[in-house]
Amino acid sequence: MTPLIAGGGPAGATAAILLARGGASPRLLERTTAPHDIVCGAFLGWDALASLRALGIDPAALGAHPITRVRVIAGGRIVETALPHPAAGLSRRILDEALLAAATTAGARIDRGVTIRDATGTTLRLRDGDTATGDALFLATGKHDLRGLARPRPLAPSIGFRTALPVSPKLTAALTGMIELHAFDGGYAGILLQEDGRANFCLSASADRIGPGGVDALLADIAHDAPLLADRAATAQDWVAIAGVPYGWRTGETEPNLFRLGDQAAVIASLAGDGVAIALASGASAARAYLKSGPAGAQAWQRDFAARSRRPLLVASTIRHMAEHPRWRGPMTGLLAALPGIARIAARATRIGH
Ligand SMILES: Cc1cc2nc3c(=O)[nH]c(=O)nc-3n(C[C@H](O)[C@H](O)[C@H](O)COP(=O)(O)OP(=O)(O)OC[C@H]3O[C@@H](n4cnc5c(N)ncnc54)[C@H](O)[C@@H]3O)c2cc1C
Repeated sequence: MTPLIAGGGPAGATAAILLARGGASPRLLERTTAPHDIVCGAFLGWDALASLRALGIDPAALGAHPITRVRVIAGGRIVETALPHPAAGLSRRILDEALLAAATTAGARIDRGVTIRDATGTTLRLRDGDTATGDALFLATGKHDLRGLARPRPLAPSIGFRTALPVSPKLTAALTGMIELHAFDGGYAGILLQEDGRANFCLSASADRIGPGGVDALLADIAHDAPLLADRAATAQDWVAIAGVPYGWRTGETEPNLFRLGDQAAVIASLAGDGVAIALASGASAARAYLKSGPAGAQAWQRDFAARSRRPLLVASTIRHMAEHPRWRGPMTGLLAALPGIARIAARATRIGH
């Protein structure tokens, strides 16, 4: 049994760990060669933390910054409330390496520095001209589509940006134990402390909000309406970007022997901070389906996973549209200010679970 795994993010690495532990001989292909930063996924909700612990990975031991509160800044208001359960901030540079190391320990073959060009059935054509074939394919290329298996182009794509703000006493004081969410017309930004004391800064905006001046021009443009966000971003540089993010996309359909994982299965609006949890949950449940039913289990698993991710995606999309729209943002934060418990209900409703 040699299942192939395309991509070594949280979804692909989780599948590799559990397939190897279950007695299969997975081969994972990942194009990066070393620890790297990615847009984004530094906020780990309680469901992501539980999934990691179930894999034997302790986020606290990796230095994850504990987060117990959320601060929402929108429509001229600042609302703070407790999260329903403890969450954490951890850079993807650390998380992805820990998962890949666990996959190696479990006995999976991890080939790094291998870029997949396209896929036909369960055969992958690699950039170096080689091919790789398995009895099943776990598609886990995340935000990047593979030719031959690409998701439909979104009608209203978003662009995601990420940087790390240098350590500063002011940011440390403001962000200790906190995830901060700033909403503005057509987008939002999320800021939290990560394991090294720097602040992970992610921003997402609809593609039509980003002009030739890029994210810096956008931040200058919204500085009047979002002064605290502009202040937080004052030291931001070295942005990494990803275009064409299809928030809300989800599929229950797949070809025989093909398991679509993580962002290739369902893309939750990122302000909910549950994309990594979805990636972990998909990798784990798909591996179990393969170990139980073999490659033929793919189509039933994909339908089940689409059903499981329906509610979190729907709730997250609704909140995103309200937060990013000028007509709804004010009333939404007014309601949050009056009834902060609503934020906890929303946070729970956007979890895929463990
Ligand atoms: C702005 C923004 C902020 C976000 N913030 C959060 C957050 O705070 N918390 C959260 O939980 N989620 C967040 N997300 C969502 C989260 O980033 C994703 O849901 C998650 O990364 C999906 O994991 P994955 O394993 O499916 O894919 P990815 O993490 O994208 O990993 C895919 C892997 O495949 C590799 N790969 C891609 N193409 C190829 C190829 N052709 N050949 C070989 N390898 C390839 C890549 O190098 C990568 O390692 C955010 C998303 C955005 C856009």
